[in-house]
Order: sequence, then structure tokens, then C-alpha cells
Amino acid sequence: MLQSLGRARDEVTLVVVTKNHPVDLAIELYGLGVRDFGENRDQEAQPKAHDFAQLVEGSSATWHFVGQLQSNKAKSVASYAGVVHSVDRESLLIALEKATVERTKPLDVFLQVNLTSDPGRGGVNPAELEPFAERVAGASGLNLLGIMAVAALDEPLESEFEKIAKLSQKLISVAPQAKFISAGMSQDFETALAYGATHLRIGTAITGKRNY
Ligand SMILES: *Cc1c(COP(=O)(O)O)cnc(C)c1O
Repeated sequence: MLQSLGRARDEVTLVVVTKNHPVDLAIELYGLGVRDFGENRDQEAQPKAHDFAQLVEGSSATWHFVGQLQSNKAKSVASYAGVVHSVDRESLLIALEKATVERTKPLDVFLQVNLTSDPGRGGVNPAELEPFAERVAGASGLNLLGIMAVAALDEPLESEFEKIAKLSQKLISVAPQAKFISAGMSQDFETALAYGATHLRIGTAITGKRNY
């Protein structure tokens, strides 16, 4: 499929979202070659990443935080995550800058944009993308990888991913290195790939139904 879309395998990172699944599943996936794991709640991710590191010797796994992040969890998340996909406001940015002081490596981040008119969905308003991008690009301890968005399922998918691609170009005009696109989930990853997604966040299509 990647080939028919003109995309090379090595330009796409598959993040397998293991939320609501036990650490055993992540370990099984690791055995199958998965190296990137996604989680959306610190309360669940922190102990899982900890247990994983204990159980998988010399692990080369990267934990991706993909959900809305409260500022008071920034310190915890920065202690185990390699990538945060949901940087979307000044207060979180400040908390992450503080939290990364103890890290040896910068924290990779995506700037999340909100494609809906519902502020509760997380993500910066596209109209505020450029000034916020300048802030994130200049933040200490953080490395801005690119843009992240969740396509609204009640909108035509093509136009959602086209919007994301345009916002990515806008971001690149402010931060030229921030060329990656975190977009695409179980329901829409094929369209996301056709519109340039570089980081897919796939849960149920790989893990099966989640146990809530
Ligand atoms: C749960 C989640 C995913 C994965 O969703 P699926 O539909 O299970 O593939 C991707 N991104 C975010 C932000 C999520 O919370």
C-alpha cells in the first residue's frame, strides 16, 4: 500500500497505541519488532513504561504521549516519554521546559492543532499556529518535530488531511526542520498516508478492541 501511495517504508513511523492494554501486550509487540508505543494517560503510561523497562532488558522502545496532557503531569511524562504529540498551549510548554531540565536528551514534540470548533478537543486554534510555533521552536529542552492533528470523523476525510498538510506547510515556514506529520489512526490511516503523514498512531487496528 505504501508503494502505491509513493511512500517509502522508512519515512513512516508506526506508533502502536497500547492504551487500555496491559504491559504484556507491549512486550509481545516488541518481540514482533514494534519499537514505538503510544499512550494517552500518564496514570497508565508511567507504570507501564516503568514495568516495560524492568521486563525488557536493554529495551530500545520509545514511548509516545499522544493524549491531552495536563501541565502537572509534564514532569512525569518527561521522565519516560521520548515524544509528546500534544503540545498545544503556553502553560504546557512552560511546564515541559521545566520538566526537561533533568533530561540528557531534548524531548521531541509535535505541536497539536485543533481542526474542530470544540476547544475541549485539545490542540491550538489554527489561526494561532504561527506565533505558538515560534514559541515551541525556541523552547529550551524541546525539539519540534512537526504538526499533529486528529481528523474529525464527521467531516470528509480528504479535506481534513488536506487541511493538516496545509498547516504543516505553514509550520515549516516558521520552523523549517519541523517537517513531520503525526496523523492517521485505525479508521483513517490510508488517507493520512496519501496526504503525507509520517507518524501513524494506530491502536485497535493492531491491538484489537480495548478493555475499558
Ligand atoms: C487512542 C488514540 C489513537 C489510536 O486510536 P485507534 O482508533 O485505536 O487507532 C490515536 N491517537 C490518539 C490521540 C489516541 O488517543
